[in-house]
Amino acid sequence: MKTSNRNTLLAGIAVTLMHGIGPAGAAEAVTDEELRGAPTNTAEWLIYGRTYDNQRYSPLTQITPENVAGLRPVWAFSVGNVDGIEATPLVDNGVMYVSGPHATVFALDARTGRRLWQYKPEEPEGLGTVLCCGPVNRGLALWGEMVYVMTLDARLVALNRDTGAVVWEKTFGDWQQGYAATGAPYVVKDKVIVGVAGGEYGIRGYLQAYDAKTGELAWTTYTIPAPGEPGSETWTGDTWKTGGAPTWQSGAYDPELNLVYWGTGNPGPWVAELRPGDNLYSCALLALDADTGKIKWHFQYTPNDGWDYDGNNAPVLADVTIDGKPVKAALQSNRNGFFYVLDRTNGKFLFAVPAVEGINWTTGLDPQTGRPAINEAMKPKADQKTVTPIVPGLEGGTNWFPMAYNPDLGYVFVPINQWAMSLTSHKKEDIAYKPGQVYMGVDYKMHTEGDTVGHLKAFDVANRKWVWDVASPLPLFAGVLATKTGLVFTGDQLGFVSATDAKSGKVLWRFQTGSAINASPITYEIGGKQYVAIPSGLGGDPSFYYQGPKGGTVWVFGLEPLSAEEAYSGPWTGHVVPVEGGLTPVPAQ
Ligand code: CA
Repeated sequence: MKTSNRNTLLAGIAVTLMHGIGPAGAAEAVTDEELRGAPTNTAEWLIYGRTYDNQRYSPLTQITPENVAGLRPVWAFSVGNVDGIEATPLVDNGVMYVSGPHATVFALDARTGRRLWQYKPEEPEGLGTVLCCGPVNRGLALWGEMVYVMTLDARLVALNRDTGAVVWEKTFGDWQQGYAATGAPYVVKDKVIVGVAGGEYGIRGYLQAYDAKTGELAWTTYTIPAPGEPGSETWTGDTWKTGGAPTWQSGAYDPELNLVYWGTGNPGPWVAELRPGDNLYSCALLALDADTGKIKWHFQYTPNDGWDYDGNNAPVLADVTIDGKPVKAALQSNRNGFFYVLDRTNGKFLFAVPAVEGINWTTGLDPQTGRPAINEAMKPKADQKTVTPIVPGLEGGTNWFPMAYNPDLGYVFVPINQWAMSLTSHKKEDIAYKPGQVYMGVDYKMHTEGDTVGHLKAFDVANRKWVWDVASPLPLFAGVLATKTGLVFTGDQLGFVSATDAKSGKVLWRFQTGSAINASPITYEIGGKQYVAIPSGLGGDPSFYYQGPKGGTVWVFGLEPLSAEEAYSGPWTGHVVPVEGGLTPVPAQ
């Protein structure tokens, strides 16, 4: 590049740093109507699960089973970090908003991949000690002129979508007490709902809602009742104060019922005999009034959990036919190894099927209530003995990664892992709560059970049967995307993003992204062209089990590359920024 071109490039940077104009000008406000209308907004991806029902189902039709083999990279963007990337990108008005490790937020031109701005939150020293599973972040939320992110040290930050400037921020948890945040904030009406991590640190879980515009606290709902409140009889003594039940994943929302659905995690410590009772509302699905946060109903998957079977994975809301009757259902694939179908109007258990083979922590679920009969032999006592093999291992079944649903087929596409674990308890006198420290009382080890761990499975809800299974040698940790044309996109730990035929389970396309995929794919359309995006980058939980190539990258694919001119269309301001002592002359700021 000639010097004069360099100077032109840098001169352009200063302009955009000052004005921060996106590719389509200033961002338009995202309204409540737009968020509710997401099902018919084919081009964009405004909500974590694309729509409030979390179906991750796109009506876009350009990419089909017939042409998907021709999918090719259009652009890629490095997040500049070798920690895990677990986000679902959002796309609005030509801009992609995506979070990387450490809750870094990037605004990218969704057509060309050029960076418009980035936001990197400050992190307190020592924060790493309260992060169970790496400095990961699962995504963002949009509302008004803002994009919202939760930092690892439990702050909710509202950023101006045009510039990345902080509009307001609120601390919603004390990280030094073990509260952290890794999920995507969830906007319902004019409120941003946030949840906390810390189930391994003796927290008392809760959800909070903040006024989206001002950041004023609207409501707080604890996931463990205080003495005297309904459900408090399921705790003994002071165990409720440090009982866990975190809310670290995102939610779902039914606008008609005005109910927000949110999963809760394990009770603590892991040794169940130290907290006798069902330990409500741990390992449960909660339905809350969206305006007040009041708990309307709960369904507990695993009472008095002793296996770290967090139930945080947000449900897919779908209207399905069960025994010939239409049902407003909530579907959830759980870490305890079962796939659940509930009535989302009242929390009634409809049915569940095993998602993995050889489940042995329970001898079965009550067909009327779904309550498990516990196999006490598989429940570790505080005596330092090892219990093994427990099936499934604590990662599931299905951990946090979101599944997808195709309403035309009535199939849900579920990433499932078939593996086991051993649990070795500490001595009772060694298990003590200390603020901000690990409060588990158990060591664990995961075991494989055969040649393959990962299984992307399709479940036919109406016929209650698994219809296909694509096996992968390593566990799956990526989310899933379904399209109207009958495609299913996901990623794996070998680094492949793939497209599978929704009906047959035949894999039609694979591309090697360079690192393991722990994030979730989306699809969107700009200028009449459909794209598929997925972040790639090993880290977080999977990196406990194997090593592999690292480096976070957002990949975007399309059926044809941009022309040389389109790909280069700038200004590439914000993408490259001047450094002190760098190229001269440095443009005036
Ligand atoms: Ca946990």
